[in-house]
Amino acid sequence: MKTVSAEKYHVLFEQSQDANLIIENTEITACNQAAIEMFGYKSKTALIKVHPSNLSPAHQPDGQDSFAKAEKMMGLALKNGSTRFEWYHKKANGEIFPAEVLLTAISHKEGNRSIHVVLHDITARKQLEKARQKEKEMLSIILESTPHGITLIDNQDNYLYVNPYFTEITGYTIKDIPTKEEWFKKAYPDKNYRQKVLNAWSNDRGHKGLEKNREFKIRSKDGQSKYIEFRTAFLKDQKISVLTDITKNKKMWEELKESKKRLKSILSVTPNPIVIYGRQGKPDYVNPAFVNMFGWTLDELKGKRIPFVPEDQQKITSERLKELLDSGGKVQFETKRLTKHGRCIDVIVSTSCIKDLKGKISNLVVILTDITDQKIVKQQLKTLNRKLEHEATHDSLTGAPNRRAIMEKLDSELSRAKRMGSGLSIGLCDIDHFKYVNDKYGHQVGDDVLCCFVKTVKSILRPYDHVGRYGGEEFLLIVPESAESVKEVVFERIRSKIANGKMLTRSGDVNITISIGIADADLNKNDTVDSLIAAADLALYKAKNSGRNQLAFSP
Ligand code: GH3
Ligand code: MG
Ligand code: MG
Repeated sequence: MKTVSAEKYHVLFEQSQDANLIIENTEITACNQAAIEMFGYKSKTALIKVHPSNLSPAHQPDGQDSFAKAEKMMGLALKNGSTRFEWYHKKANGEIFPAEVLLTAISHKEGNRSIHVVLHDITARKQLEKARQKEKEMLSIILESTPHGITLIDNQDNYLYVNPYFTEITGYTIKDIPTKEEWFKKAYPDKNYRQKVLNAWSNDRGHKGLEKNREFKIRSKDGQSKYIEFRTAFLKDQKISVLTDITKNKKMWEELKESKKRLKSILSVTPNPIVIYGRQGKPDYVNPAFVNMFGWTLDELKGKRIPFVPEDQQKITSERLKELLDSGGKVQFETKRLTKHGRCIDVIVSTSCIKDLKGKISNLVVILTDITDQKIVKQQLKTLNRKLEHEATHDSLTGAPNRRAIMEKLDSELSRAKRMGSGLSIGLCDIDHFKYVNDKYGHQVGDDVLCCFVKTVKSILRPYDHVGRYGGEEFLLIVPESAESVKEVVFERIRSKIANGKMLTRSGDVNITISIGIADADLNKNDTVDSLIAAADLALYKAKNSGRNQLAFSP
């Protein structure tokens, strides 16, 4: 208990910046100006002669009744001389505010005792404390819930904190790894690897601020290998490390690398030349079959367009390329490509697009198929077919159309004549006494005569007349002509040329004559191929009977 001179005490009391009260017999008996202002009153009267709990809310934050607690506190001050505590007060306007309260028991000469109260408004401090608490809570939420491992190490390499996610990734709690040394032993059991990690870290010793990312393989508590990315920030006397588990990413990259390797080995044994183009239409990859066939290696082509499109194939190539890029799918076309040494190869180009994750075309794959051999075989087949077709429609001895072909021709010419309303004549032409030729000169000479006969007839016929071998030494002549005079001239010219000329054979010249039975298509009479032939045959019979070497007309 303190004793102070009354006068001195009074000055201190009145001039104090802190709110001061005097309590006697549990009632306020004096207060200074600072106290009046603190409680928001205009004069002393509201503060005097009241129990201290009157300047308080009914209850304190701990739930205790303000009156009872005030009594207790005053009792404590009187008993112990002084006591310090926090108290919630109520202002004149009802506002509650926290204050630090110091009660000091004072003994007076007269023997009575009073309590000197010093009140200090701690609203600002309380608010700061609250904000700090909130910050702390937020930080702890972040640390507890972030999907990254976070550790805090002091400058003596002792672990101060590891967050739950760190334990989830590594399996270690702070008890398992009290020090960095312990962590290193557990996370990097292989001595050599551990040294490597230590060396990597030590390069940055004393570094301030954020460190670059590092990647290490750790062993977790349950023995698994994990790839962890570390980021570290250096504070004044602590180091914060952030760990990210990149094992899954790493595995995916490794799988990707593996599948790329597999693809490459497939491409390398594929017999078709393959080119993978990058974004500017320049090759990123060519397989060995390409190098083999075209002669360029990738090194020779890197950064260039492959100069293997012949000039006459540029148009089709760019058209098809446009089609491919527009569709984003696949395009196949036949074209030609040049080798490094200038050889032109017939190829089928099969192209397809590779798209990136955003769906943009990133690469073009071109597979080439050499069809040079196919082309040769195709050409040979075409020639063979043409030959077969010729053989099927032509007489092998004379080269003239055979019976079937000349009859088909007659059919189409008759239809045409009917359609056009134009005339058509046919002449059935038979070599006179051909048996005699054979008998006299031999069969081969007879053959020569037949060939020479056809040649002679062809030389006389006009481009739109036709001759075909009807059978043996009988030939069918088709003369599409309307004018009577013209057709007579044609047939007569043939007859006389044969009669007056000589057939050139291997045994010298041979003379022959021919008889021709002529029939005209009467377009009004529904003539058919058969009726025309029959009429011509009849006329031929007439010519033979009339002495041969002459024309005879169907009536
Ligand atoms: P005609 O004046 O009455 O027509 O008397 P021809 O001897 O010509 O008539 P025929 O029908 O008696 O004899 C036709 C001969 O034509 C018989 C046959 O051996 C011969 N011949 C038919 N085809 C060929 C052939 O391709 N080559 C040869 N060398 N002879 C043929
Ligand atoms: Mg005959
Ligand atoms: Mg004959």
